Amino acid sequence: MKTKVDIVFVNGRIYTMVSEGDVVDALCVKDGKILYTGSKDIAMTTYESEKVVDLEGRTMLPGMGDSHLHFFAYCQTQTTVDLGDCKSKEEVIERLMKKADGTPKGQWIKATNFDETKWTGDNHRLPTKEDLNRISEDHPIFMKRVCLHTAIVNSLALEVAGIGNDYVYGPGGVVELSGDGEPNGVLREQATLIFDELIPDPAKIPEIKEKIMKSALAEASSCGLTTIHTFAADIWKYTEDFDDYLKLDRNQELPLRVVIYLDTLFDKPYLTLKQMQDPFRKVSYGGYKLFTDGSLGSRSAKLFSPYTDDPKTDGILVQTQNELNEKMLRAYQMGLQPAIHSIGDQSLDFVLNAIEFTLEKSRQEGMTKEEQATRDPFRIIHAQMATDEMVERMKKLPVVLDIQPIFLQTDMHWVGDRIGPERAAYSYRWNTYQKEGLILAAGTDSPVESISPWLNLHAAVARKDKSLLPHDGFQPEEKMSVYDALCMFTKNLHYATGQDSFLGTLEKGKFADLIVIDRDVFKIPVDEIRDITVEETYLAGRKVYKKKSGIVEREGKNESQ
Ligand SMILES: [Zn+2]
Repeated sequence: MKTKVDIVFVNGRIYTMVSEGDVVDALCVKDGKILYTGSKDIAMTTYESEKVVDLEGRTMLPGMGDSHLHFFAYCQTQTTVDLGDCKSKEEVIERLMKKADGTPKGQWIKATNFDETKWTGDNHRLPTKEDLNRISEDHPIFMKRVCLHTAIVNSLALEVAGIGNDYVYGPGGVVELSGDGEPNGVLREQATLIFDELIPDPAKIPEIKEKIMKSALAEASSCGLTTIHTFAADIWKYTEDFDDYLKLDRNQELPLRVVIYLDTLFDKPYLTLKQMQDPFRKVSYGGYKLFTDGSLGSRSAKLFSPYTDDPKTDGILVQTQNELNEKMLRAYQMGLQPAIHSIGDQSLDFVLNAIEFTLEKSRQEGMTKEEQATRDPFRIIHAQMATDEMVERMKKLPVVLDIQPIFLQTDMHWVGDRIGPERAAYSYRWNTYQKEGLILAAGTDSPVESISPWLNLHAAVARKDKSLLPHDGFQPEEKMSVYDALCMFTKNLHYATGQDSFLGTLEKGKFADLIVIDRDVFKIPVDEIRDITVEETYLAGRKVYKKKSGIVEREGKNESQ
């Protein structure tokens, strides 16, 4: 007698990702989990199902993940003017003028994602309040840089916020002044926060919120994402609400798994093994997010020595070593996994000091080595600059590095000028990290970058910009293999949250999170990776997205087969 299953997939090129090149042609799903992978002959003689899917030679992979993004922030940007694709300052001004035309006087205009390094012409100087005053003097205008660490406002916005030449903004922020001692409209780090309080956020209105969340989730699912690790940044009002996702899940409207990281300490609910092993449980808490520095783009990443193109600054540390140590230790002792934003080389040194401190101090206070070994690894987000000595230090620590290969697309054009060739040479060394045995997971940091994992995968493998230059890739020795890069989106990502025994590879017993793509990622020319489209996405064996006859059609509900 044959065993009844829910679905049988046959005639596929099914890459299990258990090891490089491991490929089977059949896979069976029962109760949300994979029951069998192997040959079609055995599948057809051993199992039966009302649903047999002929993949007709198409490629199947484990569902893709994004190891670090700000999902609700991505939803929020849908309600602002997105300047991400603007190619000049003039284009920014034009777009915002159009917005001002249709906005009643006195109402806020909020724009996001501008990146002056992508502009032609005047691209080395940030705009100032004078530029924004040209748009309107009757609307307060606020625009945030793509890195989130810098904002520009017009004169009316400064006035509304009460920022004059004697404004006190507290530690960890900068209000830039022009020659006459007046604020010039450029604000950095903590100094941008007052505007998050002042500007009303339509994405917080429940009906609007639900609508934009559903649309963004459908988009993620159509790219093949089955898991996201989303990070709240309360300091920027980028909240994440567990209940929002839970509510969508209850209504069968959550097409992927969500792991939520908060930047405040919280009591993480204990999960039993049975709960962990339930493939239909989709929403869970991750750990505790900490910040050390800003970004290279806005020269706020903390470096050991000054920026090459601005010797007046070496970046900004948002907290002291002691503060970081104590916060991290406290989180670790509460059972939370620390996840720390770090971009500059000195910032990474701080983070490694803090991890070493946390491990040692908690041992002195009674935690055994064995207990520490059962804990999820420390996550270092970005880990963008690391000297050989730092690589050696990281190898001795239980860490996962959450990298953003797609940052290279733009950073490669200015990083040499910004930090000089010597330091650029020990930045973005993804293949070195990989070869040294460090575990990497990949994220887009969306809304900083597009949510598509394929653009990100291409960036890791090809290291080229949007025009596919340079031909051999930037720092070509750091290009990753397709397999190593894919591991960052699949099994490594789930290792980071201690879920790799349930997710990340296609093996018996694992959750049936699967995608079918339109070409074989291992066989196509590297530059075609960015053109990959997803044909079907399955979560726990249920189809959550299907592309039909070349027209992208999104299914709002988790239809069972
Ligand atoms: Zn981030």
